[in-house]
Amino acid sequence: MTAQLIDGKALAAKVREEVKAAAAAVTQKYGRPPGIAVVRVGEDPASLVYVSSKEKTARELGFGSWHHHFPATLSQGELLAVVQRLNADPLVDGILVQLPLPKHIDSNVILAAIDPSKDVDGFHALNAGQLFQGRPGLVPCTPAGCMRMLKEIAFDVTGKNCVVIGRSNIVGRPMAMLLLNASATVTVCHSKSDVAAEVRRADVVVAAVGVSKLVKGEWVKPGAIVIDVGMNRGADGKLCGDVEFETAKERAAWITPVPGGVGPMTIAMLMHNTVVAAQARLAK
Ligand code: NAP
Repeated sequence: MTAQLIDGKALAAKVREEVKAAAAAVTQKYGRPPGIAVVRVGEDPASLVYVSSKEKTARELGFGSWHHHFPATLSQGELLAVVQRLNADPLVDGILVQLPLPKHIDSNVILAAIDPSKDVDGFHALNAGQLFQGRPGLVPCTPAGCMRMLKEIAFDVTGKNCVVIGRSNIVGRPMAMLLLNASATVTVCHSKSDVAAEVRRADVVVAAVGVSKLVKGEWVKPGAIVIDVGMNRGADGKLCGDVEFETAKERAAWITPVPGGVGPMTIAMLMHNTVVAAQARLAK
């Protein structure tokens, strides 16, 4: 079997079109577009790339978009004041504080200060709790993108063995909750797990580890769906995932490539969250 590719680039373009239409409807109904504020502290080059890409996408979709950049010397108190100002700004529906923050700032304190109704990253404990309890809330963008991929290939996870590798608050845990809320039978693996044994019986594998080619193709159950969240630099300097793609694709029914898989979905789902946040806030 050679797997079909889940084309994240194409699906992200489709999501962006949907969001653009929803943003136009918000603008028409309420007289202003959805607004997103992105806060960046310091000079991390990767953060600059991510933030620029988010800003560009927001503009293309007709959003109000603000980029607040501060030197690495900004104090935690000063950053809290920025967040509080954005919480109070009626034109801002979504606040995103780009991580990582400089070491002297506790990112947990900052994320907890964001108004949960504007928490478009879905990292606030209140939104995480809503997800944990199976209630509506803002959902972290990367796992939301993975779920959208499963929806796109019309795969119903009900009762299926879904194995999530990784238990971070950003990807693994919310991914497991989304699958559980969709009635999958979920196993979460981490660095102490027998990953090979769990993957061998998985109908769906979501790899979110950060270790190049950790998941061997020979572990993949024939006909499984493989979603590779990993973004790693291989020894050759090329971007590669957590899954051994070439061998896995010979066994899987569907697989995401890296690059061009989950990566493009994350920003599209961020924009989706911002429109959802705007609709919810403006309807009050
Ligand atoms: P993270 O916070 O470092 O978490 C990694 C998880 O993998 C941890 O739970 C860790 O287990 C587990 N792990 C590490 N080594 C393992 C092993 N040998 N076997 C099994 N599990 C192992 O990483 P993250 O933020 O979730 O990101 C994971 C990957 O996704 C990275 O490559 C990152 O770049 C990528 N990512 C991509 C996107 C995107 O938009 N495509 C977005 C976010 C992240 P312990 O908990 O036991 O330490």
